[in-house]
Amino acid sequence: MLKKTQIVIVGGGFGGLSTTQELLKHNLNAEITLIDLKNYFLFTPLLHEIATGSLDENLIVTAYKQIFKNEDVNILIGEIKEIDIDKKIISINDTNIPYDILILATGAKAIKSPYSGKNIIELKMVQDGIAIKSMILDLMDCIDSGQHKTIKLKFAVVGGGPTGIEMTLDLADYVRNSLLKIYKKPDLQDIEIFLITKDDDILLRMHPSLRKATLTRLDKFGVKLITNCEIHNIQNNRILTNNKVIEADLIIWTIGVKAQYPLLPNSIERDEKGKLIVDDFLKLNNSSSIYCVGDLVSGYPMDAQAATWQGKYLGKNITRLLKKQKMAYKQYKPLGELISLGGQYAAGRAFGITMSGWFVWFIWRTTYFFRIPTTRKKIAVGVNWFLNLFSTRDLTNLK
Ligand SMILES: Cc1cc2nc3c(=O)[nH]c(=O)nc-3n(C[C@H](O)[C@H](O)[C@H](O)COP(=O)(O)OP(=O)(O)OC[C@H]3O[C@@H](n4cnc5c(N)ncnc54)[C@H](O)[C@@H]3O)c2cc1C
Repeated sequence: MLKKTQIVIVGGGFGGLSTTQELLKHNLNAEITLIDLKNYFLFTPLLHEIATGSLDENLIVTAYKQIFKNEDVNILIGEIKEIDIDKKIISINDTNIPYDILILATGAKAIKSPYSGKNIIELKMVQDGIAIKSMILDLMDCIDSGQHKTIKLKFAVVGGGPTGIEMTLDLADYVRNSLLKIYKKPDLQDIEIFLITKDDDILLRMHPSLRKATLTRLDKFGVKLITNCEIHNIQNNRILTNNKVIEADLIIWTIGVKAQYPLLPNSIERDEKGKLIVDDFLKLNNSSSIYCVGDLVSGYPMDAQAATWQGKYLGKNITRLLKKQKMAYKQYKPLGELISLGGQYAAGRAFGITMSGWFVWFIWRTTYFFRIPTTRKKIAVGVNWFLNLFSTRDLTNLK
């Protein structure tokens, strides 16, 4: 029997997962190994729903062992720090793993706040979602029991991109339709939510019509949008900016992300943002058998849709390669844009048409529902969402 091709995928996010799933469809003479820092896939688009009690934290994560329970995939947990490109070896937990084809899918890391404080939390990992929810509930408990210094409660979300917007509006809805229905104090007029961006507008990479729909929603929820606002320092609850001082009990930092990958030789080309430059078939420039998918790839949007598409595209082309066929070029065309805007409301644009409202929210939910990896998690998420339609969201504080 022919020796099996060793395919190693580093990173099991949207890109790495869809590459692995595509490769498995084709019954290849290959040994597939998936390596990740953690033993689970994290469904990041629903992370803000952990912070706002919409979903239990274990519902947006799924163990790779369960995703691939009937499949022939080696799952290894650990961090890949370096790649020996000449010897075609990577090391994990002091074990060397040789590869014939290496796929880098290590995504991007959150740009951290340069200021420290226990009231400043980034939104990237599931633990961040839990920490935000816990802090919101701590503050509500403090005010309700008269232990807070004032009756006023102030939240600030930093970053006017999709993550900042979805977080802000879901928080605004959580406050109105769950927290204030259970807690006696504070009142709605005592709570302020600020959305801070250094740019002159929000959602700069999205279509203007989606921006307009979002601004209407921010206004409806009474969110105070502060544009052209550069943060100079954060001292405890005080955000010092170029035009004013903003007070906030909780600061949610959603400024952006930066491509991350194991140490690579200087000969590997990167763009000005540090993303890896690849050819038409996602092969890393100046390397013989390393491919890349997801947020770390130059020339593609940094979103789950692009990462999933790249994974499928690469999986199909590696299959062709192993079957000694020519790789087939395809250009990435996004299907559309969707953004949830708090409550049962979302806005979306596809085929040149922008729509917003309950129906788009339903499409947004359905799209994500079908992308959740296992049937068990799909059902559990569906049940949670259904219950949220009729009752207040969860207020359990898992510190
Ligand atoms: C809060 C938040 C909300 C988002 N909302 C949306 C949304 O609504 N819609 C949308 O389209 N996109 C959204 N995104 C963006 C989306 O999550 C990313 O674009 C997508 O996850 C990129 O996929 P990826 O495979 O490149 O990376 P990731 O999904 O980040 O996966 C990378 C994987 O690599 C692993 N890894 C990293 N370094 C190493 C290493 N050295 N060794 C081993 N493993 C490693 C990580 O543990 C991780 O599992 C959101 C992102 C965040 C943070």
